[in-house]
Amino acid sequence: MISYDQALQRVVESVSPLNPGETSLHEASGLILAKPAKALWQMPRCDNSAMDGFAINELPENFEAGLSIVGASYAGHPFSGHVHPGEAVRINTGAALPENTDTIVPIEDTIEKNNKVFLKGTPKQGQHVRYAGEEYRAEEILVNSGTILKAGEIALLASAGVEQVCVYPRLRVAVISTGDELVELGQTPGPGQIINSNLHFLRTRLFECGCTPICLGIGADDQKTLGQLIDQAIDADLIITTGGVSVGEKDHVQATLQNRNFEKIFWKVAIKPGKPLLFGKLEAKPFFGLPGNPAATAATFELFVKPALKRLAGEADVLPEKRIATLTHDVIGGGKRQAFLWCSLQWDKREYQVTVSQRQGSGQNRCLASKNAILSVPTDVKSLYSGDRVEVLLIEGDSCLGHSETSFAMATSKRSQATELRCNLRHNLLHKRDPQRTRGEDL
Ligand code: AMP
Ligand code: MG
Repeated sequence: MISYDQALQRVVESVSPLNPGETSLHEASGLILAKPAKALWQMPRCDNSAMDGFAINELPENFEAGLSIVGASYAGHPFSGHVHPGEAVRINTGAALPENTDTIVPIEDTIEKNNKVFLKGTPKQGQHVRYAGEEYRAEEILVNSGTILKAGEIALLASAGVEQVCVYPRLRVAVISTGDELVELGQTPGPGQIINSNLHFLRTRLFECGCTPICLGIGADDQKTLGQLIDQAIDADLIITTGGVSVGEKDHVQATLQNRNFEKIFWKVAIKPGKPLLFGKLEAKPFFGLPGNPAATAATFELFVKPALKRLAGEADVLPEKRIATLTHDVIGGGKRQAFLWCSLQWDKREYQVTVSQRQGSGQNRCLASKNAILSVPTDVKSLYSGDRVEVLLIEGDSCLGHSETSFAMATSKRSQATELRCNLRHNLLHKRDPQRTRGEDL
């Protein structure tokens, strides 16, 4: 059986980015730019004021006598006249600087009387002016290819007049649930039936990942109906099935694929949960047969499907982000398979702390709720102990954790994080302490 690392490598190697295309900026949020996007014009488009106040030019010697207010320049309503020495133009933030003016005196540094303005001090020439092109020049690259277009990038490009961008397309992901026992939310499960909860995990995560889920419904445990759904799925960019992928007599996914143009890349990975994971290409489209147990579906999605989605979407860094964290309690570890436990990762003043879900039954949804990371327990590590430095994979990225990379780097010791982790694990193996158990059933 291949390891997690080997399986992940095969997934990443087998999936290539989709062909990019032009789309409107309006439709591009969350997509990855495939060609650099350039400004159509410079910004600011003209010299303008950074303050509410008065625009002036060279001051006459006797400026204490006051400057005549000869007009106003408001945002969107520039002053078109000529300004002479000894004159001033009322101006608002963002309004164009009138010709012949080069300095802004903020309103709070002036006194206005009888259509004249008196300056409280001597202004510095050029103060409070935003110069044309100081933010960016026409034709300048504003966003490089490979960047995810989030609100900041979209606003920047909009300001520069960019209406169309070249992006990797939004992924369409087909989801097929399998199992005679499944009913859809809204129905009351009869004897032996359960709600198709995996669909809701996947649908939500796919939305969160910026994909369009195509939910094809529940395939019964027979090859004919399953085959019909699989045939509908091949228009998608990636196909996911849940359940029916193990060795039971009702597990029909593999047999259904055999009659089709399916290239199996691997089946079964030495992980817990998620061992029966199937990965291959159906009509050259990445195909994941996820095991049906909810925690297994969720883990294999995060560990394998997410990197494949990122790769298809043109992202450069597709592997899960990792952190080293201090365990807040003892945990019973894995065994022959690398274990992945749902956990909560928190930043506590100077380090990450990780708390593992108390119940990790692979048949349960409960362990998935309110979790933001997955603790990885290497093969053959039987136990982890409170205070151990452990490796966790982030689920949502780091932004929700309320601290910066820098503060984390400062908190770690001089030993490299990886060395520290290895030392801890070895220490545990040598000193077979009896941990207060966090029980996990066999996943
Ligand atoms: P399977 O992988 O088909 O053998 O299913 C393993 C376990 O996961 C069984 O207990 C199934 O009832 C359960 N299961 C399969 N599919 C789903 C689903 N879509 N939602 C919730 N549980 C599921
Ligand atoms: Mg089943």
